[in-house]
Amino acid sequence: MYIPDSRELHEECGVVGFYGVDHAATHAFLALQSLQHRGQQGCGMATVDPSGQILLQKNAGLVKEVFTQKDIENLPGTSCIGHVRYPTTNVGGQENIQPFLFSRLGGPFALAHNGNIVNAEQVKKYLEKQGHLFRSTSDSELFAYLIGTTMRQANNWEARITRAANLLDGAFATVILTPHALYACRDKYGFRPLSLGKLGSGYIVASETCALETVGAEWIRDVEPGELLTIDQKGVHSSWHSRTGLHKMCAMEYIYFARPDSVIEGCSVHAFRKQSGRLLQAEHPADADLVTCVPESSMSAAMGFAEASHLPLEMGIIKNIYVARTFIQPTQSMRSVGVKMKLSPVTSIVKGKRVAVIDDSIVRGTTSKLLVQMLREAGATAVHMRIASPPYAWPCFYGIDTGTSDQLLASGRSLQAISDFIGADSLGYLSVDALYKASGRTQLCTACFDGGYPTELYQEPDNK
Ligand code: AMP
Ligand code: SF4
Repeated sequence: MYIPDSRELHEECGVVGFYGVDHAATHAFLALQSLQHRGQQGCGMATVDPSGQILLQKNAGLVKEVFTQKDIENLPGTSCIGHVRYPTTNVGGQENIQPFLFSRLGGPFALAHNGNIVNAEQVKKYLEKQGHLFRSTSDSELFAYLIGTTMRQANNWEARITRAANLLDGAFATVILTPHALYACRDKYGFRPLSLGKLGSGYIVASETCALETVGAEWIRDVEPGELLTIDQKGVHSSWHSRTGLHKMCAMEYIYFARPDSVIEGCSVHAFRKQSGRLLQAEHPADADLVTCVPESSMSAAMGFAEASHLPLEMGIIKNIYVARTFIQPTQSMRSVGVKMKLSPVTSIVKGKRVAVIDDSIVRGTTSKLLVQMLREAGATAVHMRIASPPYAWPCFYGIDTGTSDQLLASGRSLQAISDFIGADSLGYLSVDALYKASGRTQLCTACFDGGYPTELYQEPDNK
């Protein structure tokens, strides 16, 4: 299969939507904060005010920085959508912060999405061939544009969104707000999570169930792959833009992205991670005195590993939570400094000990290499790295920004070469099979581990 060298948009984000909820913006403010781990670069909210006008506020920064009490008061209304955006190395800029508000494309409507459309270029060309002047660059604008262009063919929102969603291939969990309704849909493969809950007499949709818990909503169900929910005065109405029977939930949601207290399609994220730690121990036991996690994302997996190996789980590494995430630093040297500032070994715990370090994943290898070095400097006599996911060797085209193939440590390298690079005494990765076992699922997207992309990747013939 043709694998393009670079990817375009990177949109690992979080979305929320409210309908029929008093002080919707206040609830969205709380819900977005509980989705903050999905995106820290920027955030925004759009509400429908009592006169039917859509109001929007968005900016760069964390949710608590962007919205003051006054800002929230200036967003009245009982329906709202919100978004948190992930900071990426390639696509920055204020203009990418969502939701987007469209007043001409059949609007007004606001739209926010999480994911990445793989046939964006093809759809743009198709529209251009039909004589549409198309200048947008983002997937959300493409979605909105498609909704706008169907105005003549389809006379209601549900039909318009259905047609637009049907033309798009790839990953999307999208919320759309009009003066009279909230729409929520997932792509036909179901890459990104989206749950529906009840809040008083109204409704909430959110990327993760932890947002439902935060606002005191009751989980109803997950939005299905290919499903479109219309939520309005009449309640919740379900329809389909595509029906494939696929449930290709992103395995990295379970492994790294989602919050451990979230439940994704019936599987608790913490339970998944803990079980993956147990399975990792069964597949790759470590001759160690203690187990430590790399705080906090691998905590649950380390618990499982320690439990299965009957070794103590210790706080061998601590994290400075006030340092920005290392992964996103634009250059490799900045990333390395970032890891050192963020993670420190606890000398009194690791000195003279053989340490099993459990991390959730190795992407570029920056974190693992520095960790091994730090632990040795702190006196660890052996460092055994155990990774609660398979080797990450293929780029993601569905919205997870992990770099191109040449940046992925496991791409084209043997286990020994990876172990030598990070300098560990031993290295063990979880198998793809174990991901299925830990989740109890029969379908997952595991493309970044095995190259089995669930979609076409849309080779660009004129690039060849
Ligand atoms: P690296 O240092 O590049 O090998 O990154 C691996 C570390 O980043 C692991 O400790 C993960 O917890 C974390 N990680 C994995 N995938 C991502 C991602 N897509 N974005 C940000 N951090 C990630
Ligand atoms: Fe998730 Fe990997 Fe699939 Fe991307 S390729 S959607 S990161 S499992």
